[in-house]
Amino acid sequence: MIPVTKPFLPPESEYLTYITSIWERQWLTNNGPLVNELELRLKEYLRIPHILFLSNGTIALQIALKALNLTDEIITTPFSYVATTNSIIWEGCKPVYVDIDANSLNIDPLKIEFAITEKTSAILATHVYGNPCDVEAIEKKKKKHHLKVIYDAAHCFGTTYKGKSIFEFGDISTTSFHATKLFHTVEGGAVFTKNADLLKKMSFLRNFGHDGYEKFSDIGINGKNSEFHAAMGLVNLKYIDEILINRRKLSMYYNDALVNLKCLKPTLIHDSQYNYSYYPVVLESEEITLKMIQVLNDNWIYPRRYFYPNLSKMPYIEDNFVLPITESISKRVLCLPLFHSLSKEEIDLIASIMLRVQNN
Ligand SMILES: *Cc1c(COP(=O)(O)O)cnc(C)c1O
Repeated sequence: MIPVTKPFLPPESEYLTYITSIWERQWLTNNGPLVNELELRLKEYLRIPHILFLSNGTIALQIALKALNLTDEIITTPFSYVATTNSIIWEGCKPVYVDIDANSLNIDPLKIEFAITEKTSAILATHVYGNPCDVEAIEKKKKKHHLKVIYDAAHCFGTTYKGKSIFEFGDISTTSFHATKLFHTVEGGAVFTKNADLLKKMSFLRNFGHDGYEKFSDIGINGKNSEFHAAMGLVNLKYIDEILINRRKLSMYYNDALVNLKCLKPTLIHDSQYNYSYYPVVLESEEITLKMIQVLNDNWIYPRRYFYPNLSKMPYIEDNFVLPITESISKRVLCLPLFHSLSKEEIDLIASIMLRVQNN
């Protein structure tokens, strides 16, 4: 079987060395030494000033929304994982969808203008597949309309824009370290900000609002993560360069193997270093997409329709949004298997099946 992704697992013995140290200290969670070490190492690796390690990428979004006191309408992308939309609604706000750009598959900054109303408080955009949004155009809208900006950077570990980690952009960026992501801590996530007040606020929010043992500063939540999760992150971080290089190689191999496939691929923004976190193809029609899925599945190969359906079609979204590009792309997009242990032979097999379906 070839799934769309497989979690990276480091040598067991390296993980167990950390686990033994946890047994010695008997400190399991609540801002322990391994959590601190992971935060420090990630700051060094990503060359960023601050990070708060959290229990997952969804709570990261919720803490970001809460920290900025966002209300009413939040402009967002219909082309993302469902957590992006759900966190907005969960925090009592209303998602207002803006169509994506047909080339980058990220929210189209030109269309943001038309969605802004008196009630708009923020933009929550996803850097889809790890390809940065047009952060400069979004920054202009933010300044012009006095909005807050949050980036869902769940796909972006290792991505840079103009030499800087993409996690540095927006008022707050969030990410996920879930097992299926390029860098993982089994479950986990993080928030990033350069604003000292926001950082402090979010550090209270992740720990029930505690500001000391008996003082509470805010309505917090439990967004902490444990020593066991931090240990997985510390071991995985040793392999991250190897993982990134290998994904690039596998993606290039796909490019060659699929050179005759009739499809579009997202165009990457200039001045960015991509992390090859996904291998998406946009096929010619929904019909051919469904047929490819079926034949691949018959061969125990499981690509995924990231992202289908488009988020404005969730059963709890009442308004009708006109989103022709998202609608068209989400019906035709397929993310092909891509993970560290994927072999060239497996890519050859996937490519030959897809080309056979196309040419039949
Ligand atoms: C994975 C993902 C999330 C959610 O992260 P979890 O750690 O699984 O909660 C949010 N947004 C996007 C775009 C994702 O891909």
